[in-house]
Amino acid sequence: MDVRIHSNLCQGHGVCEMICSEVFKVDDAGYGTVVKPNPDESLAAEVSEAASNCPESAISVTW
Ligand code: SF4
Repeated sequence: MDVRIHSNLCQGHGVCEMICSEVFKVDDAGYGTVVKPNPDESLAAEVSEAASNCPESAISVTW
């Protein structure tokens, strides 16, 4: 699993970190970052939920 945030789309709502803080963190400027770009499959459900709940559709997941 390859997880990315498209920084040009991210508006910093922080939903991603609220759903899966192991993979996503909001940085000091308030924007989402991926701290674990190749997470274990056990996090797949949380990562998918974060991606589908991002208000800007800024998260992409490649399986
Ligand atoms: S939920 Fe989406 S818009 Fe919000 S911080 Fe995360 S990637 Fe950015």
